[in-house]
Amino acid sequence: MRNRCVAAQLEDTMFRRRLEIFRLFGFPIRVDLSWLIILFLVTYSLAAGFFPSNHPGLPVSAYWAMGFVAAMGLFASVLFHELAHSLVARHYSIQIDGITLFIFGGVAEMREESPSPKVEFLVAVVGPIASLILAATFLFLSRWGSSLEWNRSLLWIFYYLGIMNGILGIFNLVPAFPLDGGRVFRSILWAIKRDYLWATKVSAIIGQGFGWLLVGWGAVSIVRGSPMDGLWLVLIGFFLKQASSRSLEQVKIQRQLEKIPVSEILDTNELHFGPHDRLVDVFSQLEHRRIHTQYPIVREGNLVGFLPIMKVHALKDPGWEYREVKEFIDTDIDIVALSQGANAWQAFQKMRNRGLSSLYILEGDQHLKGWVTMEKILNRLKLT
Ligand SMILES: [Zn+2]
Repeated sequence: MRNRCVAAQLEDTMFRRRLEIFRLFGFPIRVDLSWLIILFLVTYSLAAGFFPSNHPGLPVSAYWAMGFVAAMGLFASVLFHELAHSLVARHYSIQIDGITLFIFGGVAEMREESPSPKVEFLVAVVGPIASLILAATFLFLSRWGSSLEWNRSLLWIFYYLGIMNGILGIFNLVPAFPLDGGRVFRSILWAIKRDYLWATKVSAIIGQGFGWLLVGWGAVSIVRGSPMDGLWLVLIGFFLKQASSRSLEQVKIQRQLEKIPVSEILDTNELHFGPHDRLVDVFSQLEHRRIHTQYPIVREGNLVGFLPIMKVHALKDPGWEYREVKEFIDTDIDIVALSQGANAWQAFQKMRNRGLSSLYILEGDQHLKGWVTMEKILNRLKLT
């Protein structure tokens, strides 16, 4: 049961309600709706607390404006931090799906794990370094600007951003996985013992411990009369604890699937069609079966393309039944095929990244050996 849940979680995307707002260096930048909550909370706490107590005598509207500018500056800083991770990852050919800002900060969504300890170390460490550089820059500006008698509201915003980036950089260096420091720590363990699973386990245990520590600290703060700060710590603690156990499960699953060659989970009796089959026959064969995202089109035992079911479903023209499969064929077989030497983890990743329910396993360049389905892989996980 436990494995099934994890597998389902793996299929889940973390953020369901997000919007792309712009692109930066080719990376889509998205905000999750939960980010609006934190934008409001940060603006509010600055406008009602930090700025009036440090820089008194301004009208309320000025504090709200300062709060908003500082909050946006904070999120631009988070973006800068994530961008640093993303650019280094891209330099090492790790694919980045984009950067998402959400209630607990930001995340650069990497499609795959780092190929080596060195790459993991560099990708992870550059984020906190970026934040610490920003911290130094903003603190310098706030001091230098003050000697030049710049606008005091602006100086307070710089000061706030300097402190916050400092906190962000240092917090992320704590060796608690999946924080950046935890990844740095894992990469060092990985380099020493050459055992990725063990390195992940050790750093995930520290991650969970740190998560619980934050929860405990938050609970104490609530009892001592700071309910908002306390609640925030409790939430971040739970989030970290969850994220570290989830990453650990993911690595365990990866290790498990890597040991299964696709030849072991191959189906050979699944449906396939020829280029000249009519759609009416296709659909009559699909009835009462589990529908896949696409079906292989085969000529003389060779995979020549695939039929994306969504494309056919979208068609409402009269007479569609008698049209031929070849009109809808997609011939880019790299999208749906894997060589017979691959393992179940590679199949799983390819299906997940492309949103497919099945893949075709090829012998040589084109000869179709059989199918691998997501269902079968998930069942395998349930069994072991
Ligand atoms: Zn980071």
